[in-house]
Amino acid sequence: MSPATLDLEDGQLTDEAIRSTMTNCSRGEAHRMRVPDWVHDCDPVHEVVGWRDPKAPERGWLLVPLGKAVVGLALRATPGKGVRATAMCDLCRTTRAPGEVSLFVAARAGESGRKHNTVGTYLCSDLACADNVRVLRATPTLKPDPGLSISQRRDALRERAAAFAAKVLATRD
Ligand SMILES: [Zn+2]
Repeated sequence: MSPATLDLEDGQLTDEAIRSTMTNCSRGEAHRMRVPDWVHDCDPVHEVVGWRDPKAPERGWLLVPLGKAVVGLALRATPGKGVRATAMCDLCRTTRAPGEVSLFVAARAGESGRKHNTVGTYLCSDLACADNVRVLRATPTLKPDPGLSISQRRDALRERAAAFAAKVLATRD
């Protein structure tokens, strides 16, 4: 399965383009996805973009840059309020307050996913990793990966997100 390449030349990311990137859910699920307005102004070719579905709270969606293409991932958060202790997001390595990191599972793409194989990972509950790596000063409830510049954190986020997407696509274990 090859990731969709997004054409952002007109500067706007359409719902249709976002749906076309989704690799690990059915067309019906992609069709029912709700996309908040702010997502349309994002550039997923250069930045990880994530959001929780406003109409389906357990649902999360992630757009991951992979070369010049974008992989769209459907995620499902485990029910409840997230990890009860202070925890770190596996993608942006931000340490968050209790309840602000959740276990998400992604169905593997293709046949493997239809057999209910999943990949699990701990992520910021709000999926706002791209914002969190830009936080300048740590607060008691949000501590970015220490000792790195914002640009290093952004690069590391993209790399880890690409590795996660590769696992979902089963091109890497
Ligand atoms: Zn995060």
